[in-house]
Amino acid sequence: MNAAEHILNTPDAPSKARGMAKVDSTTNSAAAHKAADAVGIIREWGKVYTLTATECCCCGIPLRDAMSVTRGIGPVCSKKHYEIDFDITNEMVEDALGMLHASGLEKPVKLAAKALKTKPRDLCNVLVWWASAHLDQVDVVLACAEIMSALGFDSLGDRLRERNTNVIITKTDDDSGDFIIRCRAKIGVRRYMRRVKEATSVAREGRFKYGWRFPASRKELVWAILGEDFGHQWATVPALQGKSSQVVKIPATSYYNIRQAFTKAYPPAKPAAPAQPLIVRMGDPGWLEIHTPHRNFGFVAEFKASVNYKHRTWNRDKVCWTVEARFEAKTRELVAKHFNGRK
Ligand SMILES: [Zn+2]
Repeated sequence: MNAAEHILNTPDAPSKARGMAKVDSTTNSAAAHKAADAVGIIREWGKVYTLTATECCCCGIPLRDAMSVTRGIGPVCSKKHYEIDFDITNEMVEDALGMLHASGLEKPVKLAAKALKTKPRDLCNVLVWWASAHLDQVDVVLACAEIMSALGFDSLGDRLRERNTNVIITKTDDDSGDFIIRCRAKIGVRRYMRRVKEATSVAREGRFKYGWRFPASRKELVWAILGEDFGHQWATVPALQGKSSQVVKIPATSYYNIRQAFTKAYPPAKPAAPAQPLIVRMGDPGWLEIHTPHRNFGFVAEFKASVNYKHRTWNRDKVCWTVEARFEAKTRELVAKHFNGRK
């Protein structure tokens, strides 16, 4: 199968996607194949994928002029995100092509990219184009955004990511290390975020009504909270390095995961150690709780030696040993020996 056939045999992209229409023209496939130069490829490509975008892929405003319609991006966004003040290095292009190759994007994009190796800006055009033709396929748009970022179009990539995720996490502008999370309204998230003591709500910005600021130390907890309402969905998060954002899938969590995360974040206060050793009988026939004023290795060693592990446990929450009641005599003897002076 040659390149042109690949292009023409591509299954129909979603033609109903938000007012997009993709029309397969009757272009001679040989023409596309012969177009060796980048411009030729783009031109042929344009014939095959005639896009009539009705809204900007970045901000969603209706597109009016013919130029914007064919490009899939409005003039304002184009000016804002396309004007770059740096050179696109070969390394960046190689990175982008590698990502593109590994991505799940369809063959026509990959073929066009190969031909546009020396024209990264045109390559980005193709990606914008492709993204706006597939606005209803989040995975496709996000894959395009990732490659745009690799080419250096960070703000364009960020914009597409933010527009196509239900959760956006950003770093604050100051150097507090805090984060800001914005997301679609969900009762669960709101209820749990109220219980994150360090979180404060922030004013509305962008398309989401709710937002909170929280310190980095509560990242794990917030992530767990998001998992209940937004599990398996995409979130835009700050990239580990560089200035662009990245997209990650939120793992699903349950009520129990969230409860665990809260307990980890806010451990229940440990009971104060008693001044004197205290042996409390619980239940019937029951067990004993042994509270001691301090740790005593001699006691622990002897206690472990005389009571098999099946009959005793260390209670982490109450900071005490529990032992079956039938070991009462031996236990009292050991406590007296180690804590109340020699017997
Ligand atoms: Zn726009």
